Parts: sequence; structure tokens; C-alpha cells
Amino acid sequence: MKLYTLGGYNEVGNNMTAVEIRDEIVILDMGYHMEELMDLDEEVEAMPSKLMIKKGIIPDDQAIYTQREKVKGIVIGHGHLDHVGGVAYLAGSYDCPIISSPYTMKIIEQQISENKKETHNKRIVLNQGETYSLTSNITVEFVKVTHSIPDTMLTVLHTPEGRFAYGLDFRLDNSPVLGETADTERLEELGREGIKILVGDSTRAGDRGTSASESSIRDQLRFKLDHVYRENSAVVITTFSSHIERLKSILEVNNNRRKVAFIGRSLKDYTFPASELGYINLNGVEIASYSGEVNKLFKKIQKNRDHWLIVCTGNQGEDRSVLNRLSRDDYEFKLQTGDHVIFSSSTIPTAVNRAERYKLERDLKKLGAKLHFDIHASGHGHREDLRTLINLLKPEIMIPGHGDIHKLAEHATLAQEEGYVLNKNLFICENGNVMDF
Ligand SMILES: [Zn+2]
Repeated sequence: MKLYTLGGYNEVGNNMTAVEIRDEIVILDMGYHMEELMDLDEEVEAMPSKLMIKKGIIPDDQAIYTQREKVKGIVIGHGHLDHVGGVAYLAGSYDCPIISSPYTMKIIEQQISENKKETHNKRIVLNQGETYSLTSNITVEFVKVTHSIPDTMLTVLHTPEGRFAYGLDFRLDNSPVLGETADTERLEELGREGIKILVGDSTRAGDRGTSASESSIRDQLRFKLDHVYRENSAVVITTFSSHIERLKSILEVNNNRRKVAFIGRSLKDYTFPASELGYINLNGVEIASYSGEVNKLFKKIQKNRDHWLIVCTGNQGEDRSVLNRLSRDDYEFKLQTGDHVIFSSSTIPTAVNRAERYKLERDLKKLGAKLHFDIHASGHGHREDLRTLINLLKPEIMIPGHGDIHKLAEHATLAQEEGYVLNKNLFICENGNVMDF
């Protein structure tokens, strides 16, 4: 079994891994490097794939491209852009199917149509718990795990040379608000059947304990809204647009007390496919995406500002987001002293994000808004979640993924605590490594 660590081993994002078994290759994920993508949004749609690779926006697939006749499938585990963003640019070069879960496939279709690239690969939608026989040697299995976007799957490749498990991204939420808990029974069973290699999610390997459950975040949101609704002020919540579970919680705890507006393009892009699959009920929610719609809706809200709950984009302080424009007093709806802005998110800790968030908070405070932070749990398993996964799957070989050297090293120290030995059955890889096992 040959492992190609193409992207996501020097950074968070840019994810792409490939596995070769008896002259057949399976690609796992083709993601954006979000940090490199920032502020390039409009240029990117017209950018050729080679330039995207050169700029480090998508992974360098050269090592696989040169032997592309061996590639039998592209498997995408979930719909976050750091896992699917590159599909529209890279997948079309391979004569093989794209395999993903229902919600992920909708995001992939959206990406392909937006980026207007030729992508004629056959699409295969695989549900949780299902398997797909890709070739006589390779069967793909999707095991349900929890994360922060619907339909996240841990991928297992069953091959004559052993089972390969790809656990990006994942956490173990025992009380999710949407969908089921992770299928730990199947994970344990796979551990008994034998896993040769596990690529694990190192994003939060340095955080102690476990990631808080989504239902506990829903309780915090309920408590917060109960409190702020006592005042007759405007209330704004911002969160990740792809976090359908969180948006569902917001609707639940609002419980029709206020009218709800979802404002911002990405909110529409992620919630519409989720509602088509029955993951969120958007009845009664007013949604505004493009600037004309946004202005019209804000005008309406301004007249009855304490009757509305505004959910908008911009939790990272992104320049063109709705919250940023609100902070610059850019709409007919005006934030004023005593209004509440709730961040149901955490700042993704990059230098750019920190700087953008600083400016955003400063400007919101200038308008007199009260800011509430960090009503949020990470979608990435903390140290004890990662330990549980290792103990369930008991892989022969452990490969930390999804992080820079510091995060991979944190994950490696955890694996060492579980008995793995560095460079014997535990390996810290870099982008572009090829390893034979
Ligand atoms: Zn993710």
C-alpha cells in the first residue's frame, strides 16, 4: 500500500491524500487552502488550475496526475471547502467517479457550476453505512461521524493489502442536534477486523478533553436569547454558513419569538441544499443573498428592528461579509447603542483572520453594540476524542493529518501515549511525501 500525502500535512486546509494498491489509486479530498484563497474570491473563478496550484490555493496533484490512468475514484468525505474546493479544478483531469455523501455531493455540484470548469466525472452518492465496490480490489465504505457540516463520513478503503481509514474531519458528539451520533459500533468492529493505516484529524490535538456537544451549545444559545430578548434591541447572530446544525439550533431556540432573516450569499448557498434534504426547515425564514435583496430586507427590518433575529455572514470579519458592512454602517438598517451581536463561532487563528476580527469588533463597539463571543464548540475532536478513535480503530500505522507540523506533532505525542513509536508505526508526513507500507 502506497500513501501519497499531497496536501494538508504542512497546513490546515489544502487537503488531498492518495492511496495506491496494486496499480490502482484512490484520491481522498481535493480542498482549498482557505488562507491563500482570502480576498481572491472573484479572480479565482477564472483562474486556471495550474496557477491555482502554483499559488498554493489547491493541492499539487502532479505525482498522481502523471499516472492518472491508475486513478479509479475520488472520494470526498464532507463538504467543507478545504476538502471539496479543488474538485472543480482537479477532478476533471481524471477519468473516474466522484464518490460522496448526499449533502457533500450537492456542495460539489454547486462548486462545479460556480467555477464553470469541465467536470464530467460520474457522480456516486453513498449514504452512511453503505459500501461501494470501486474495483475488484477496492471497496469504499462510509462510516457516520459527527463534525460541523451534515453527512460527514469517515472513509474506509477495503483492499487486499488491508484497510485504509481516512478520518478527516471528525469529532465524537454524543448528543448532536442534527442526525445521529458517530457509528462507534462500526468503528469498533472495524478495529477488530483490522485497520492498517489511519489518517487522523490533528486540528485540535493540542486541546485537552473533548469537544463540547452541539446540544450544550444549543442550551447556551437559548439562555443567551432569553436574556437579550428582554430588551427591545436588535439582535444579530453570526456563525459559519455551512454549520447547518447550529443554524437549526438558532431556529429552535428562537422558537418563533422573533421573525428570522438569513442574510448573506453563503447562508443561502449552504442552507438551500440542506433544506432540500430535510436537514433544516426554512419555512418562515426570510433569506437575502444578493445586494438588492439584502437592502430590501434590511429596510423592512429597520422599521421593526426589535421584531427580528438577524442571522448573517461574517463571523471571521471577512471584508465583503454582511456583518462587516453592518459595522461600517453600509445598510439602511443601522446598529445602535444597546443592540446585541452574538458570535456563535470562534476565530480561525490565522494572522489575517485575527486582524480582520480586530477591526470588526472595534467598529461594532464604536456603533454601541454589545458583543457576545464564543458560543461555539469546535467541529474537530479534541485530544480525548482522538484517543477514543485510535482505541476504537486500533490502526497498525498512525498518520496525523490536517495540520502544520505543530498540530501533527501534538497528535503524534498522543499516539505515543497509546504505544505508537515514531518512525516505526507512527509517521509525521509533509506535503509531497510518498510512503510504502
Ligand atoms: Zn471540515
